[in-house]
Amino acid sequence: MLRDTLGRPLRNLRVSVTDRCNLRCQYCMPEEEYAWLRRSDLLTFEEIQRLVEIFTELGVDKVRLTGGEPLLRRDLPDLVRVLAGIPALRDVAMTSNGVLLESQAAALRAAGLHRITVSFDTLRADRFRALTRRDDHAAVLRGIEAVRSAGFTGLKLDTVVIRGVNDDELADLVEFARSVDAEIRFIEYMDVGGATHWSRDQVVSRAEILEHLETKYGPIDPIREESSAPAERFRLGDGTSFGIIASTTAPFCRTCDRSRITADGTWYLCLYAQRGIDLRTPLRSGASHDEIKALIATGWTRRRDRGAEERKDLEAIGHRGVLVQIEGLRRDPHLEMHTRGG
Ligand code: SAM
Repeated sequence: MLRDTLGRPLRNLRVSVTDRCNLRCQYCMPEEEYAWLRRSDLLTFEEIQRLVEIFTELGVDKVRLTGGEPLLRRDLPDLVRVLAGIPALRDVAMTSNGVLLESQAAALRAAGLHRITVSFDTLRADRFRALTRRDDHAAVLRGIEAVRSAGFTGLKLDTVVIRGVNDDELADLVEFARSVDAEIRFIEYMDVGGATHWSRDQVVSRAEILEHLETKYGPIDPIREESSAPAERFRLGDGTSFGIIASTTAPFCRTCDRSRITADGTWYLCLYAQRGIDLRTPLRSGASHDEIKALIATGWTRRRDRGAEERKDLEAIGHRGVLVQIEGLRRDPHLEMHTRGG
């Protein structure tokens, strides 16, 4: 099996199908204007399929479709159908903000999508509006319902916890997740590209999240499991489980087997990486299957990224702040979280 310089295998691939989004979340896309990828540069479904097949030959067995908002990509179920048919893939999942799920969940299920994660930060419509600058809270709730009625199991809800924004809703969100048969995962606010309003004091740490929930629910037990998944899972006394993704205060770079392809075919080996590997040019200039495979294999073998740990190290010397200033993001939209997918 292919391993990088820290012995990490290539397993999880996130495929961004668009850099466009129909929300403007303050922790991801807080600006008024954005530089977008060129439309003619976006990989076609055939190109995505070709790349994913090569990746599976090198160890990838899980793919997650993301964006931007993946449901903005036209005919997404067609891509899902092709990916779900690749025998080496044991998991084809998608992360969505849920706004368009009501109309698309059934088609995605019929196409063979295995799992859906919905980003869900608040139960309050007024807060949703302030956080996302769109009035779509009810649509997201209907989308969550549609996921259930389409027959998906293993629904996850992801909440970015931000101090003073939604940190008073943790228990309510646990209750809501339970009511819709979902598992909620609380994500620490990350200083990724695009989070131009990030500040350390807005980060609600894993320790604080646990403390808050213990006040309401009593002792919380960690669930011990072997996994490279970013979320650590916990169980309340009544058996309800939830996760915490502590990427900011307790990074997990040492077990990170994830990499990301942007919608225009740039491959990033770390969410924090400043540079990616261009796969679109070889793909479009006639490179053979084996040449592209060699490019990917070499890239992974040389991988030494541990971006989240390095960000944390900066904190120790008082230098942790916004990762990329707005001018840098305007020059290169690849540095944006919404281009890389979460
Ligand atoms: N539009 C889809 C969605 O909303 O789920 C997929 C793309 S979105 C970039 C993927 C994930 O990144 C979401 O769960 C989002 O909450 C997370 N995310 C974006 N910015 C973040 C930040 N600054 N800190 C932590 N998570 C972030």
